[in-house]
Amino acid sequence: MKENNNLIEYLNKKDAMSFKLERIVFEIMFKHIKDRIFVMKAEAGPIFRYIFVNEEAYKCTNIPLNYIGKTMKEVLGKEVYKRLQKEYIKVLHQKKEHVFIEELTRNGSCYYGECVLTPISDENGEVRFIVGITRDITQLIIEQKKLIEREQHYRSIVENNLDAIFAVDLDGSIHDINPAGEKILGCTYGQMKGKKIVHLITGKNAPLFEKLFVICQTTKTSQSLNCLVSQKSSFLPVHIRMIPSVVHQEMRGIYIIMKDMSEKTKSAEKIRFLAFHDQLTGLYNRRALLEELQVEINKAQEAGTQFALLTIDLDRFKYINDNFGHIVGDQILIKVADRLLEFADYRLSVFRQGGDEFNILLIETSKEETSLLAESILSRFTESFCLHAQEYYITPSIGISMFPIDGAGEEALIKNADEALFRVKERGKAHYQFYRSEMNRKEKNVVSLETNLRKAIQRHELTLYYQPQVNLKNKKCDSFEALLRWNSPTLGLISPADFIPLAEETGLIIPIGSWVIETACKQIKNWSKQFRKDIRIAVNISPKQFQQSNFIDMVKSSIEKYSIQPSSLEIEITEGAMQNTLEAIPVLKGLKDLGVVISVDDFGTGYSSLSYIKQFPIDVLKIDQSFVKDVLENDKDAAITTTIIHLGQNLGMEVIAEGVERREQADFLLAANCHKAQGFYFSKPLPSEEINQLFQHQSFRNNIIIEKKGD
Ligand code: C2E
Ligand code: MG
Ligand code: MG
Repeated sequence: MKENNNLIEYLNKKDAMSFKLERIVFEIMFKHIKDRIFVMKAEAGPIFRYIFVNEEAYKCTNIPLNYIGKTMKEVLGKEVYKRLQKEYIKVLHQKKEHVFIEELTRNGSCYYGECVLTPISDENGEVRFIVGITRDITQLIIEQKKLIEREQHYRSIVENNLDAIFAVDLDGSIHDINPAGEKILGCTYGQMKGKKIVHLITGKNAPLFEKLFVICQTTKTSQSLNCLVSQKSSFLPVHIRMIPSVVHQEMRGIYIIMKDMSEKTKSAEKIRFLAFHDQLTGLYNRRALLEELQVEINKAQEAGTQFALLTIDLDRFKYINDNFGHIVGDQILIKVADRLLEFADYRLSVFRQGGDEFNILLIETSKEETSLLAESILSRFTESFCLHAQEYYITPSIGISMFPIDGAGEEALIKNADEALFRVKERGKAHYQFYRSEMNRKEKNVVSLETNLRKAIQRHELTLYYQPQVNLKNKKCDSFEALLRWNSPTLGLISPADFIPLAEETGLIIPIGSWVIETACKQIKNWSKQFRKDIRIAVNISPKQFQQSNFIDMVKSSIEKYSIQPSSLEIEITEGAMQNTLEAIPVLKGLKDLGVVISVDDFGTGYSSLSYIKQFPIDVLKIDQSFVKDVLENDKDAAITTTIIHLGQNLGMEVIAEGVERREQADFLLAANCHKAQGFYFSKPLPSEEINQLFQHQSFRNNIIIEKKGD
C-alpha cells in the first residue's frame, strides 16, 4: 500500500485540501475494484502526469512501479501515448466526461477496454485532474462480435435464399422480406411492408392458410401447405412453411417461407404428360384411353347416353415401313395423327394405341352419327399424304364398339372394337364396321345366337339370294352372285355381314360354306336345265373356308354331285384370303384345275398388289362398290375404276363392277369398257323363286334384263 500512502502524502502535500478522500474508499477502489483506475494530473502543455493507478491497472498495463509523477509520454509506448493523449485532450477541452473504446494487444491477444474519462475541475472551472476508469469489455466485445457474425450469417442465409422469406407480426403483417420474396412476387419491400400476408394467398386457400397461421402461433410448431399466391398478373404454385419466431419462450412473430413450385409443377406435369401421351405423335396413349373410358362409362351410365369407341388401323402400313423405312413410317404416323385431330372437339378425342393403331372416343352420340364420322374419316383419307415430295396413299380400317350395347367395361369395349376391326381387315379393309350390335340388340346372348346358327342349316333357315350380273354391252344376264341370308324365326332376317363373322369365329363357316356351294351348284343345275343355257353363279368364300384343307375336294364333290360344268361355278375370294401367297397359290391352282372361275371380290380395297394378280390364276376382278359409288363425282374414284378395268382387260380378265345404283354409273362403266355390272340399279339380290319369275318374262328370257327390276 506504499503507493496509496504516497498518493495521500502527495495529495496532502499539494491539493489535498480540496479533495477529502476517505481511506476506506481508497481501499476498495485501489484493491478490489476490477476496473483499471488512473488518476492523472493535467498540466500545461498539455501534459498528463500519473499520480495514481490501482492494482488492477498495474496488472494489466506496463506501467512501471515508480510511475508517480511521470508523464504519460514517459510511461507509455509511442503509439499508445499518441492515442491516449488525444482522448485526454478532448476531456481537457470539453470539460466533460468522455467515453471511448480502447483496443490493446497483449501477448498477441486482443483486449478491449471501455474507458470513461472524468474531468475534475477546480473552483475556477479549470480541469486539474482526469480520472480514467477502464473496464475490460473484451468478453463483451467478443460476444457482440459473435452475435454480429451470427446475425450476418443468418442474414446472408435469408438474403441469398432462393425461397421467399417473409417476417410477419403475430397479426400477419409483413415487416421484412428477402430479395427472393420481392422477385417471386414481383413487388418491392416498400410495396409489401405492413400488408397482411394472407392477402397474397388466392381465395380458395386463404381460409386454410389463416387456420394454420393460428395453429402455428398457439402451438409454436411449424405448419405447411401448398397453395397458389397471386403474382402481378398470374398465380404461382408455392409450398408454404410457417416457422414460429420464439424468443425467451415468447412468440414474437412468424417466418413464412415460400418455395416456388412452378418448375416442380411443370416437371410433374411433364411426367404426367409423358405418362399419358404418345411420344411420337403427342396424342393420348393407351393408358389415357383406359382412364378416359372409365370416366366416360360412369358419365354415360349416369346420363343414360351412348358413346362410341373407334379402333382405327392403317391398311398396309407394314408395307410402308418395310419399303420406305421406319423414319418415313414415323413421319406418316405423325401426319395421320394430325389428320385425325382435325375431327377432335369437346366430344371427340384421339388416342394412339401404338404401332399404326389409333382410337377415337366420341361421347354423347348415336350409331348413326358414329357411322357418319367413320365415313368422314374414310373420305378424309382418300387424300394422299405428302412426304418429301412423294405421295403416299393410306387407307384406314375402322372397327367400332358402342357403349353400353357392345360392352359394359373398358376392356370389353376395346376388345369388341378390335374384333370389329379384325372383320373389316378380313373383308377387304378400308371400311368400317360396328361390333355385332345389330345382333346384340336382338339377341343379347351370343351363346344362344351361336346355338341358333348351328341349327340354322338343319332347320332350313339359311337361304341364298341371287343378284343378277348384267353384261353392259348387250344387257344380257347369264351370271348371278349368290348372297347368303339367314331367316331366323326368332331373330328375323339377318344380314351376312352380321352373322358371317360369328360363323367364322365359331368355325360354323365350314358347314355353312359347304352348304352355300352345294346349294349354288344345285341352283346352277336347275336353272341350266330350266332355261337351257349356261348359267354361272358366284359364291363368296371366306378366308377361313379357303384355308380349309379339303376345300378343293368339297367343291369338286358338289360339282360332281349335280353334274354341272365346273365353269358354271365362280369362287369369289377377297384380297385378304390371298395375303399368304404360299398357302393361296396351291388352293387357287387346285380350283383352277377343277375348272371353276375365280374372282377377286371388293378389288382395290385390300392388299392390292400387282404381283399377286400376275401369280394367281384369276379370271374376274370385281370392282368394289366404294369406288363405283362416287365414280361420277370423284375424279380419283373414276380414275381407279377405269384403271382396274384396263388392268383386267390387259390381263385377259373379266371385270364386274359392284354397287351400281344409277343409270349414269352404268353408262360410265360401259363407256370405260367394263364387262359386267351388278347393283340395285339392275336388281337387288332376289330369292330364287323371284329369279324364276323374272325368267318367265319375255325380255329376261331373251337375256335382256329389265332395268330397275326388283327395286
Ligand atoms: P359382297 O360379296 O361384296 O356382296 C355385295 C354386297 O353388296 C351384298 O351385300 C349386296 O346385297 C350388296 N349390294 C349389291 N348391290 C348393291 C348396290 O347397288 N348398292 C349397295 N349399297 N349394296 C349393294 P350382302 O348381301 O349384305 O352381303 C354382304 C357381304 O357378306 C358380301 O359382300 C360378302 O362378302 C358376304 N357374304 C354374303 N354371302 C356370303 C356367303 O355365302 N359366304 C361368305 N363367306 N360371305 C358372304
Ligand atoms: Mg361378293
Ligand atoms: Mg363385293
